[in-house]
Amino acid sequence: MHTEQSERNPEVIASKEQKKHTQKESPGIHSEIGTFFKLPKNFRFSFWYFLVIILALSLLNSYLSTGSSTMMIDYDEFKQRIGNGEIVRVRISEDLLTGYPATPVGTEQSRLTGDDSYSTYSVEDPGFISLLDSNGVEYFATPPEKPSLLTTMLSTFFPFIIFFFIWRFALKKMQGGSGGGGVLSFNQNKAKIVAEGDTGIRFTDVQGVDESKWELEEVVDFLKKPERYEKVGGKIPKGVLLVGPPGTGKTLLAKAVAGEAGVPFFKMSGADFVEMFVGVGAARVRDLFRQARENSPCIIFIDEIDAIGRSRSQSGFGGNDEREQTLNQLLVEMDGFDSRSGVIIIAATNRPEILDQALLRPGRFDRQVLVDKPDVVGRFEILKLHTKGISLDASVDLKRIAQAAAGLSGADLANIANEAALMAVRGDRQVVSQQDFEEAIEKSVAGLQRKSRILSESEREKIAYHEVGHAVSAYLTKGASPVSKISIIPRGYGALGYTLQYPTEDKFLMSESELLGTIDTLLGGRAAEQLIFNEVSTGAGNDISRASDLARQMISEFGMSEKYRNITLPSTTKQGLGGAREYSEKAQEYIDSETARIIAERYEIVLKNLKNNREDIERITQILLEKEVIDGEEFRTLAHSLTNG
Ligand code: ADP
Ligand code: ZN
Ligand code: MG
Repeated sequence: MHTEQSERNPEVIASKEQKKHTQKESPGIHSEIGTFFKLPKNFRFSFWYFLVIILALSLLNSYLSTGSSTMMIDYDEFKQRIGNGEIVRVRISEDLLTGYPATPVGTEQSRLTGDDSYSTYSVEDPGFISLLDSNGVEYFATPPEKPSLLTTMLSTFFPFIIFFFIWRFALKKMQGGSGGGGVLSFNQNKAKIVAEGDTGIRFTDVQGVDESKWELEEVVDFLKKPERYEKVGGKIPKGVLLVGPPGTGKTLLAKAVAGEAGVPFFKMSGADFVEMFVGVGAARVRDLFRQARENSPCIIFIDEIDAIGRSRSQSGFGGNDEREQTLNQLLVEMDGFDSRSGVIIIAATNRPEILDQALLRPGRFDRQVLVDKPDVVGRFEILKLHTKGISLDASVDLKRIAQAAAGLSGADLANIANEAALMAVRGDRQVVSQQDFEEAIEKSVAGLQRKSRILSESEREKIAYHEVGHAVSAYLTKGASPVSKISIIPRGYGALGYTLQYPTEDKFLMSESELLGTIDTLLGGRAAEQLIFNEVSTGAGNDISRASDLARQMISEFGMSEKYRNITLPSTTKQGLGGAREYSEKAQEYIDSETARIIAERYEIVLKNLKNNREDIERITQILLEKEVIDGEEFRTLAHSLTNG
């Protein structure tokens, strides 16, 4: 009955999403250029044709520009040769000086070197012309050379052409080689929406979540015989939301529903939608539902729906428009069809608290199925399932392993079975031993403890006493509702353990003794901690605030105080719906002191009762520690020896 703050970290989630976005940015840019090029539909352009053309052009180019060859020399050597009279003519161009010898072609030297002129890079040298003049060298200048048209064309268009090919390549990759459809048919990207004919998963492949299975059986039944429901007109859920910590088998259950019913299974992950280009997420949702309608009866499964279904108000400033569009489209599609059309939407999340309320409204995901971590029996069943294909040593005791794996999920257990088998392989053994399992668990639990998912032995004990304290107090107090279940299996979010009472729904009318009984039960957790450990913990925070709220209401609203019996204390202001009342200073003082008095009195009584039954409490706690869950019947049998007074 106590809660711990559920771990939320919207900032981290947001930054992760952003990363995904940037990774996919480049294809988005390319698509815009795609429209600019406007390619004909069956434009087939082989890279090899292109290469041949380029080669031919460059050959032609070099052929056209072949001229005489020349020998590059240093500038001072060039001047020297002029001084020597070797060079008789000089061509001056923008950055090159070319000197022609007296006998240009066919000299001994030119034949040897293959050169018939000397060239050098021109240097800023004011005395150069006078040098030429004084040596009687002819000279002439040529204008800067104009590049050929071909070179210009190539150098201008070449980058574009390369870019074009990269773009085409990226596009092909993105489409995953799926044939058909024009190059630019983004809007109907069907590549990822493929129905699985048979998921191959049955309910027997999912263990330890019996209650969730029972709830889903109705869905299976409906998918098998939709006509029957049509006739009777019974209410069939349109959407089922599987809620539970990671790795408890939500995805597996959804597949099992499809497998049991023998209907196609359309799966999409919420994260897939978010990665999409602008406008594509919504288009995909539309497409998904269209296909589902064509293939009904069938199941649409949206895994990790929190990725798109996050509350719109929570997305903060600069929210993700794309995600919102996708979510809106999903809502529109869900409203747009009758559940009797034979399509059932199953979604899974481990963060139900961040989902947009619109998703949970009637006619949408109006049914929630809790898929919780398995208890000790469930863990045993899951271990049995996942060790089917593994040869086990006679020493292996799966029951003991299940006990040691408290707080672990189905996925953790599957992982442990696998890890144990790997250890045997590494040790070069044919069969897996108990030792292998123990090591695998240690490894897994150590990892989880770091994530503070698993409780230490002493914490577990504290929680067990706390819960038994609630249950025993409820049993001993006249007005309290009977206990229906005590559990110390840590739930993914919220309670570390809990005690349930009948009736679980709110009562509309409560007598004074029932109110006091509720307060006693709430205080019982902390009182048990006090009794056994002589110290209280934060675990009871929620219990305490609920108990004091109740006591305060008794005084101020229900007229159950001693001094102002049957009088509602007047509040000076009463704000609108659900607003807090404000009392005069004097009235407030009275309310506070009376509240404190009630709580203190009740706490004394509860503590005394627990003290008188200390041995029984210890006995029941040991059983709870062992079994993790005790149901109402069992508890009443165990509690038989409890005495009041
Ligand atoms: P979730 O979707 O709740 O995060 P998954 O369904 O993806 O969990 O579970 C991952 C894997 O863990 C499954 O493929 C299966 O091998 C194993 N597993 C999880 N829960 C169970 C279970 N209740 N029974 C059997 N195997 C399970
Ligand atoms: Zn509690
Ligand atoms: Mg999953």
